[in-house]
Amino acid sequence: MEKIKILVVEDEAPIQELLQFNLERNKYRVSVVDSGEEALSVACQFLPDLILLDIMLPGADGLEVCKRLKADPKTQAIPIIMLTALCEEADIVTGLELGADDYITKPFSPRVLLARVKAALRRITAAQPAISDERIVVHNISIDTARHKVEVDGEDVVLTFTEFKVLQLLAQQPGRVFTRYQIVDAVHGEDYPVTDRSVDVQIVGLRKKLGTAGKMIETVRGIGYRFKEEE
Ligand code: CA
Repeated sequence: MEKIKILVVEDEAPIQELLQFNLERNKYRVSVVDSGEEALSVACQFLPDLILLDIMLPGADGLEVCKRLKADPKTQAIPIIMLTALCEEADIVTGLELGADDYITKPFSPRVLLARVKAALRRITAAQPAISDERIVVHNISIDTARHKVEVDGEDVVLTFTEFKVLQLLAQQPGRVFTRYQIVDAVHGEDYPVTDRSVDVQIVGLRKKLGTAGKMIETVRGIGYRFKEEE
């Protein structure tokens, strides 16, 4: 079987080595570059299955690189995980809205790195059937997307249209963080206009109605929300 290819874009040598060592040990084929310009040219030839992209890079930074990769039909489908410092919340939000799939904050453990890489790769293969599936079942929640019905532990839960759309969006891709803007965008133009602050209100209502399953919707401080991944 051909190895899964990962492109690492990182300018700091110790982090490059840490990434390369751990990814190769897990049987990924790794290519490492240390600038945004190089990332763009290598991505088109190497055609990786996943890109780990540092935000703070000399020259074109990670956000610029992300934007350009997502604008190019050759590379736009490749999932991107950003590598950031914890203090770069605004950059993380921008990156997610530019189409990055996820982010990892530095310093990170190899265990977290590999879990995130696997989750992002899993989402590529899972994304297609999940959307057409009529029923999403995660943990004790069952979501019937055709009938707009939700059950928790087999009991019906009555949600508003907007609450339903928010839940559906998050539950379709467990583990993926959505920014408030992305949530607004996904549910926009339905029963009433949703603002980013009203997303917080929707989430509060949704959690309450979901009862024991409410904790599956996690707040990602400063960034947005995500549906907990199944362990
Ligand atoms: Ca850097």
